[in-house]
Amino acid sequence: MSESNAPSHRLRTRLVHSGHDVETSRGFVNVPAVRGSTVLYPNAAALKSHDQRFTYGTHGTPTTEALASAWSELAGAAGTALVPSGLAAIAMALQTALKAGDHLLMTDSAYFPARRFAEQVLKPFGVETTYYDPALGAGVAALMRDNTRAILTEAPGSQSLEMQDIPAIAEAAHARGVCVIMDNTWATPLFFPPHARGVDLAIEAGTKYLSGHSDLLLGLISANAQWWPRLKAFVDLYGVPPGPEDCFLALRGLRTMELRLKEAERQALALARWLETRPEVKRVIHPALPHHPGHEIWKRDFGGASGLFSVVLHPVPEAAVEAMLDGLELFGLGYSWGGYESLVIPFDCSTYRTATNWAPGGPALRLQVGLEDIEDLKADLAQGFARLRQAAG
Ligand SMILES: *Cc1c(COP(=O)(O)O)cnc(C)c1O
Repeated sequence: MSESNAPSHRLRTRLVHSGHDVETSRGFVNVPAVRGSTVLYPNAAALKSHDQRFTYGTHGTPTTEALASAWSELAGAAGTALVPSGLAAIAMALQTALKAGDHLLMTDSAYFPARRFAEQVLKPFGVETTYYDPALGAGVAALMRDNTRAILTEAPGSQSLEMQDIPAIAEAAHARGVCVIMDNTWATPLFFPPHARGVDLAIEAGTKYLSGHSDLLLGLISANAQWWPRLKAFVDLYGVPPGPEDCFLALRGLRTMELRLKEAERQALALARWLETRPEVKRVIHPALPHHPGHEIWKRDFGGASGLFSVVLHPVPEAAVEAMLDGLELFGLGYSWGGYESLVIPFDCSTYRTATNWAPGGPALRLQVGLEDIEDLKADLAQGFARLRQAAG
């Protein structure tokens, strides 16, 4: 965890240079993966005062400090806490803002495990959750109670990619002293500067685009000046720092994140437009496409789109979708996203949503577009569609 420095250079420059630490790198370009629990103190007085840069492994190392300060700079945050997964970041952001007797508003489109956390952890500890339609915008104010203390937003929503008017929600929330938490994993701070848009606590699953290589798990919680002291104090209580290698790899990923994200955006948009021409596809769900219901909000608030979007197919039997998926050569079948490789999963939000009605009128697929040649990706899907048509009869 670390405080941020005021950004003086342009974004691309900061991505390359932020978080450098000449002292611990001993002249090498990269901050090393520092392993360690014990930090030695020079004398009894220092031991008593704890007055030195590093005090114990759980409270930070040169590696975690470099990553946290670079992320704070990128997110425009007062500080960033690092935890071992994106889900842990959600859990700790919620617990920072809530206590027994409080009420939480959560978008119906939230990452499903956030919902499970609310039901299976927060509820038994005395926090009640109301799920809201992400299209409400400032209308969420009507759902706020005297004891509402936090709202968990996510834009676009998991799998179904609904947009939300975050500045309007933040204004309504702050008028009543409600903490605005946002899962910003899809856009990252590169495409959505969370704190400048009114978010108090912003969550990033570093597992996705910060890693970029599907080889680590990491969660980051950045906070504005108002919330940083509470967040830091709360996360310190848990004692769950991420591992040094994961932080080292995340710092490496940070250097190329803008390049990878922009290429993912370009590739995904090209594939989305091609999918719109396919007769098997009923609808492409991508916030950067003009017909997306939240497109105007996306255009107003976001600086780009990442490589994750969804499609709804015309109705076919499940076996036909499985025939399509089973023969894919390049698109892997697997969870998570943000890596260099393309992935696809079928999904059905209707099994768990309660404030909105998910009835897309056909089977839905979520696509993570990687860095492969786009023509090869189209060919892989085209062959998949041929299998789908054959199996559908
Ligand atoms: C993947 C994901 C998470 C969780 O990240 P993990 O590191 O896998 O725990 C949280 N939110 C969103 C939107 C995600 O896609």
